[in-house]
Amino acid sequence: MNCKVPLIGDFHYNGHRLLTEHPACAEALAKYRINPGNVGFGKKKDEQFAQMVELACKYDKPVRIGVNWGSLDQELLARIMDENSGRQHPLDATEIMRHAMVTSALESAAKAEDVGLAGEKIILSCKVSSVQDLIAIYRELSKRANYALHLGLTEAGMGSKGIVASTAALAVLLQEGIGDTIRVSLTPEPGGSRSQEVIVAQEILQTMGLRAFTPMVAACPGCGRTTSTFFQELAGEVQEFVRARMPEWKLRYDGAENMTLAVMGCIVNGPGESKHANIGISLPGTGEAPSAPVYEDGEKTVTLKGDNIATEFKEIIERYVERTYTKKLKS
Ligand code: SF4
Repeated sequence: MNCKVPLIGDFHYNGHRLLTEHPACAEALAKYRINPGNVGFGKKKDEQFAQMVELACKYDKPVRIGVNWGSLDQELLARIMDENSGRQHPLDATEIMRHAMVTSALESAAKAEDVGLAGEKIILSCKVSSVQDLIAIYRELSKRANYALHLGLTEAGMGSKGIVASTAALAVLLQEGIGDTIRVSLTPEPGGSRSQEVIVAQEILQTMGLRAFTPMVAACPGCGRTTSTFFQELAGEVQEFVRARMPEWKLRYDGAENMTLAVMGCIVNGPGESKHANIGISLPGTGEAPSAPVYEDGEKTVTLKGDNIATEFKEIIERYVERTYTKKLKS
């Protein structure tokens, strides 16, 4: 289907068969994800796990060992609970769950290495839906192993709750240098876009200063000085505009993703913030003249007036990108 993004095969119970019977698929995939709680039962579990790992070795693919607390390996959990009952100071239910997830990931990784998969081809993830559990589990994983770690709060939820919970968990870990890849898992509104997960993941990395993807717009919250909703609409329109332009800018220029923009609601505080951004605009607040000063790299360059402020501001951004960022050489 001419799909150009890397595809990950996510296998549950029949992965050993699928990968054996469909070698073209096994070869086309960029990575295999194996959930150690959903590989098989009894003796077959280890055999089927080994079979998938052998195929990963054969096709030179990385494997993510993806533990999920909703499908934790029940035999391993029973073993850990037995061990716990013999302890002088038994762990409580939360500690047991965290310990079982870490153990499942690390024991599976050790088995994969025994089968012949190199350690640098292994990625671990332990998905849970509680922020504190996620942080505790990943701190433990990073202390006990050197494998690449994939972070994600599973079943984070809808709307702001899902975004806040994911950000709270991931930010703590990323700040500690824990995590190599991330996933944000949000429940969309019915018919809503799945791309919001990607935007939130990018914004976590970009607002933390870890990696830039698209120019960011700073906007004031608005207050009694704000005369209308125009500055809010402009802030939204500008963010949409730069996001939509970024794929083309990326092909033509280096560094446009680092550009910062400010859209402010009045000229009392607006120009100060505007001067800190690459390009900033301050819209007229209550009682202010109907004009909007624009600053580029700290210098006032123009004052916009009239009905076409949004269009003219976007043209200013486009011209700024063209003259500021290095042109990519045509190959
Ligand atoms: S910049 Fe002006 S409009 Fe915006 S919050 Fe500050 S004082 Fe209010």
